[in-house]
Amino acid sequence: MNTMITGATVITVDGKGTIHQPGAVVVRGDRITDIGPSAEVEARNPDVGKRIDGRGRIVMPGFVSVHNHLGYSVFRGRAEDIGHDAVLGLYVPMSTILTREERSLLAALSTAELLRGGVTTVLQMEEDADVSAAFVEEIGMRAALGIMASDIDVAALSQGRMVLDERIRAQQVEQSIGFAEQVHGRGNGRLTAVMAANTASTSSPELLRALRDAADRLNVPVSMHMGIGEAPDVRALHGGAGVFEFCRDNGFLDERAIAVHCYQLGEGDIDTLAQSGAALAHCPLMNQFRGAIAPAETMRENGVRVGLGIDNYFSDHFEVIRARIAVARIRANDPSVVPSMDALADATIRSAEVMGMADEIGSLEVGKKADLQIIDARRYGLAPLNDPVRTLVYHGHGKDIETVMIDGRTVVEDGRVTGIDEEDLILQAAQAGASAWDRFKTRHGAYVAAH
Ligand SMILES: [Zn+2]
Repeated sequence: MNTMITGATVITVDGKGTIHQPGAVVVRGDRITDIGPSAEVEARNPDVGKRIDGRGRIVMPGFVSVHNHLGYSVFRGRAEDIGHDAVLGLYVPMSTILTREERSLLAALSTAELLRGGVTTVLQMEEDADVSAAFVEEIGMRAALGIMASDIDVAALSQGRMVLDERIRAQQVEQSIGFAEQVHGRGNGRLTAVMAANTASTSSPELLRALRDAADRLNVPVSMHMGIGEAPDVRALHGGAGVFEFCRDNGFLDERAIAVHCYQLGEGDIDTLAQSGAALAHCPLMNQFRGAIAPAETMRENGVRVGLGIDNYFSDHFEVIRARIAVARIRANDPSVVPSMDALADATIRSAEVMGMADEIGSLEVGKKADLQIIDARRYGLAPLNDPVRTLVYHGHGKDIETVMIDGRTVVEDGRVTGIDEEDLILQAAQAGASAWDRFKTRHGAYVAAH
């Protein structure tokens, strides 16, 4: 299907700050084939039948979120006030309570929410990421998917003992690689694999090396949480090793690695990270509520590539962009760092670059995949538009988005996700969450497990 969006404000994020106003974008098949001032583009493409009236609207690239746990929407309203206790108090115990059916519904809810909010690409890593793959493929999202592996004995961990287990490792490696091979390249190449591990304090060197070998074979990235307060456990578990040295020495810190969070760093960690060539998955919205924030600007100044991730519970990427700006300015005590165009680039082209996809997505340019969003600027909060980038970055919301396209296919139309019954999905996911929490409370006596 060929489509032309005309008369819009087109923010290309092409690296030169090009904005066409009024501008037009032509999509033929899954690619952008023309873009520029509206009158010129319309004159060059008289054959395109389907027109979208872009007047009063903004067209820009879809958001790329470099770190997500889709099924973790179950923790919404339970985890935000308890900081790092969420890991042992909620995540670990809930992993033995949620059924695959429930996790699948919750992940479907998150996927639909993200699409609705203009996120067109995610890196999804989760213990059972395989349950969400079919829905992600069907609904049309672009995604790098990975099982979030670990070979620590969870039962022992909940009793405060750290034990790496060979049988768990064998099962995890088999599951991770099997899933990666099965999912990689599916959906016109929209689905790719990522080899993911949880943390250095829940992984053996053998686990990481096996995942790394698979990543090399499939030519895909690796990703892991790092610098999240795991340093004492890593020292205890791995003979005194530092987190980043351990990751580097076992294939999880190099040019193909995406290090997630990195808000608790020791001396020399930024150097180790920078020298390795690894990228940072910066999740400022999530981390600020834990009272922690990565020194992303210092990292960038040292050559570390930075992309933005939602992480979990949340689904409005505009809030991630605003958190990106706010925490950087508070950290630097300087209102001029991370201007709005920079933050928008972080959420699109730079995140695409972190995922190794910048040749195909992340900006609106001829030859790239048609992954884009159309925002209705005739809404409360967006008028007068004045400077479109600044107004959108500081005042936009996911709910202002009208249309989302991925691979040239319309996945959100008139603010509704196409191909699903949204009300039914929300209801079913809510019931799945409520039922899981009922069982959680019965087993643990509260909505947070003692640990
Ligand atoms: Zn995470």
